[in-house]
Amino acid sequence: MKQAIHSFGWLFFYTGSIMSDIIYKRILIKFSGESLKGPRSFGVDPGTTVQLAEHIKELVALRLEIALVVGGGNIFRGISASRKGMDRVTADNMGMLATVMNALALQDALEAIGVPTRVQTAIEMRQIAEPYIRRRAIRHLEKGRVVIFAAGTGSPYFTTDSTAALRASEISADVILKATKVDGVYSADPNVEAGATRYATLRFQEALEKRLKVMDSTAFSMCMDNGIPIIVYNFNDHQNLIRILQGDTIASTIVTN
Ligand code: UDP
Repeated sequence: MKQAIHSFGWLFFYTGSIMSDIIYKRILIKFSGESLKGPRSFGVDPGTTVQLAEHIKELVALRLEIALVVGGGNIFRGISASRKGMDRVTADNMGMLATVMNALALQDALEAIGVPTRVQTAIEMRQIAEPYIRRRAIRHLEKGRVVIFAAGTGSPYFTTDSTAALRASEISADVILKATKVDGVYSADPNVEAGATRYATLRFQEALEKRLKVMDSTAFSMCMDNGIPIIVYNFNDHQNLIRILQGDTIASTIVTN
């Protein structure tokens, strides 16, 4: 028992010292639908989703306020279907529904490991989730619940990157963390050009002028206008995420000025 109290004391001290180094309080993490796909070619991989939920739980333990936006590309992308002849609005509506499926999968995985969550949808479907209500979302965050924003913006012709920018602005998030397969923004595709270099920081204006593909221009413009930095980090290097939240420049940060 004494040993247990002693260990707990150290854990408390350790977590406490990490917490004091974290420079953000309210964060919004944007995951693409592919983050849930794992080794599969399509859909949701349960093991990968559980792993993602465990990473999020570690951040919850640091008493961060965490909002999530999840994409739907692992299930359905409106633009791809419309290129094959489907009506764009119908296709985008289907894409938004795909994000709801992912949000529910993530909610299920988080709640199974004891993380309280709420899913809020931009398209009303009250039988399965709350409708998006900004004040209520903020209240959930203040109470330590992870809020998952689903169904995108609720409008076609947008992406879930733009959703992340919009919701982050609405809830006054301190930062957007954009989870990708690479550890930041590069001058060129690092898989194609050996000499490509990673930016530690860059300005939104530069990202827009260079047409860097890491996020769409609507998302960049909104974050630029509202002064919300975006950190692009490698989703597979979860350990680095805590260092990033402490201000380490191992990823790329896009800023207004
Ligand atoms: N979508 C939309 N409006 C939004 C957000 C998303 O119409 O505000 C649709 C769009 O068809 C998109 C799909 O939902 O292709 C899935 O979102 P996204 O492509 O951003 O997912 P990700 O690439 O992040 O997995």
